[in-house]
This record gives sequence, C-alpha cells and structure tokens, in this order.
Amino acid sequence: HADIAMYRAKKLGRNNFQFYTPAMNEESMERVRIEGALRNALERNEFVLHYQPQVDLKSGRIVGMEALIRWKHPELGMVPPGRFIGIAEETGLIVQIGAWVMRTACAQNKAWQDAGLGKLRVAVNLSARQFGAADLIASLESVLQDTALDPACLEIELTESLFMSDIAPAVEILHRMKSLGVNLSIDDFGTGYSSLSYLSRFPIDVLKIDRSFVADITHDANDAAIVTSIIALAHNLKLAVIAEGVETAEQLDYLRSRGCDEMQGYFFSKPLPAAEFEALLRQHSALPAPAAAEPEPAL
Ligand code: C2E
Ligand code: MG
Ligand code: MG
Ligand code: MG
Repeated sequence: HADIAMYRAKKLGRNNFQFYTPAMNEESMERVRIEGALRNALERNEFVLHYQPQVDLKSGRIVGMEALIRWKHPELGMVPPGRFIGIAEETGLIVQIGAWVMRTACAQNKAWQDAGLGKLRVAVNLSARQFGAADLIASLESVLQDTALDPACLEIELTESLFMSDIAPAVEILHRMKSLGVNLSIDDFGTGYSSLSYLSRFPIDVLKIDRSFVADITHDANDAAIVTSIIALAHNLKLAVIAEGVETAEQLDYLRSRGCDEMQGYFFSKPLPAAEFEALLRQHSALPAPAAAEPEPAL
C-alpha cells in the first residue's frame, strides 16, 4: 500500500521513509487509513448528522434529539463513530469536526423550529479536547449568534472523564458555558471513575444514565438498583434524568415507574437522517393529545 507508506513517511518526516510489511497488523493498518482519510473528511463533506428523539416519559412527546455524527467514506464505507472519534480526539481533528457538528446541529434545530415543528432541544456531544480548547466559549457564542438558536434549546453532553483532573479550570469553563444559557448534561453517567462530589459543585442540569445499566434493568436486580438510585440522586440534586439505550416496553415501563424524566433508545427510534427525523416529527405532532397515554413507538 504505497499510499499508506507515503502517508507514514510524510508523518515521520521527509528523510524517514519506512517500509511496512505484512507484519503490520490489520488493525493498525486500518487505523492509519482512517487517520489519513479523516484529515480530508470535512472538506469533502463526508460527515452527516443523524438525530435520535428524546421522549418525555410523562407526556409521551418528543422533547428533544441527540445529534450523532456519521461518516460515509467512498472506500471505507460507513465508519461508525466508535471507530473514528477516538482517533479524531488523539489527532486533535475533533476540534474542527466538533465545531462542524455544533454548527450543523444548531442550524438544523433552528430550521425545524422555524418550520413550526416545535421548540425542541438538541443535544450535542462535546469531546474532552473541545472542552479544553481555548476558543470553546467564543466558538459556542458565534454558533448561537449565527444560527439564532435560543441557547435554552441547546444541551451540551459532557463525560465524567472531563472532571477527573484539573477540577478548578473545569468548574470555571462550565460556569462560562452556563452563562451562555445552554444546558449541560453528563453523558454515560455511572461509567466514569470520577468522584460524585462534582455533582454538587458543577452547574449540571441533566444526568444521562448509561445504556449498559438500562440493558438489564428488568432482569438484573443490581442494575435495577443502580438505575433507581441514579434517578433518585438526580432528583434530589434537582437534576433531570434521561435513560439511554431503551430497547423494550418493559424497560420503558420500569423507568417510568421509577420517575425517570426522559428516554432515548431504539424502542422509540434509532438515530435518523435529518429528512426522516423531520418526517417523524411531522407525524408525531399529528398524534392526539397524549395526556396519560403510553408513548407510541413511532416507527
Ligand atoms: P453516546 O453519546 O452515548 O450516544 C449514544 C449511542 O448509543 C449512539 O451510538 C446511539 O446510536 C446508540 N444508541 C441509542 N439508542 C440505542 C439503543 O436503544 N440500543 C443500543 N444498543 N444503542 C443505542 P453511536 O451513534 O454509534 O455513537 C457512539 C458514541 O460516539 C456516542 O455515544 C458518542 O460518545 C460518540 N459520538 C457520536 N457523535 C459524536 C459527535 O458528534 N461528537 C463527539 N465528540 N462524539 C460523538
Ligand atoms: Mg451522547
Ligand atoms: Mg451516552
Ligand atoms: Mg453511552
């Protein structure tokens, strides 16, 4: 693979050509291909956002969506985020990619609001590298200004890993983000190793229960206990709580019976391309008033 050798050589410096033999395992080959291709993906318009509905468990209504990036590469095919976000993170490319995600998701949500599809919230994942970038606040401000999206309609998903070190600067960044009027949530809550004490000191609005806990709530008493406790913890701290990865009616019933506020998962809908999400919204808003009715699986 001359292209890979060239790429590596370029990376190592002009006088540092290296030969790659079959000994180089497939995984690192794939990694190199992804890393190389990732550098051009933005300018080649290869990214697209899918949107997954977030449903209020009391009303059964769609109240928001999470924007999830998808990468369609002409040769590599559809590369799932699990296979490139980490590489984008290590190379720093995530800062530009993440800025594109933020701008695209906010613009799309505003367009849906302007089309009369409801004042919904859009959740955007923020990586550690973006969180640490010097221009984070300025770049958020310019997206909000350019798209004219109400900041209250933007939710930024952070992970606990952000809080493991350098607590003081993290608090300050969070307060500056909050002062823009956006909502902050903790994604994959319960899977990180940080201390719970940050919850009382940081201006967080929402906990997202990781789907690994949700998967077995109806079969595993320990997972059920963890989920019930997270819901109680959130509410005692005056935070909202959303469960991710809800796949069955039994899980939904359980979460609702424990007072979970919102849910997101395949049971209601997979992440959808923008046009399909819009169709879902149009169909959904035509549903009869939900009152105490069960949320309807829309797909
Ligand atoms: P996440 O933020 O925790 O997103 C939820 C993931 O769970 C998504 O995977 C979603 O498709 C999947 N999911 C949703 N409902 C269900 C369900 O009922 N069952 C199962 N098995 N899975 C469900 P996806 O889209 O592959 O994204 C994986 C991760 O990649 C995300 O996890 C997030 O950490 C990261 N990611 C995605 N888009 C972005 C982005 O724009 N920026 C950054 N920094 N990270 C992103
Ligand atoms: Mg997320
Ligand atoms: Mg998550
Ligand atoms: Mg997760």
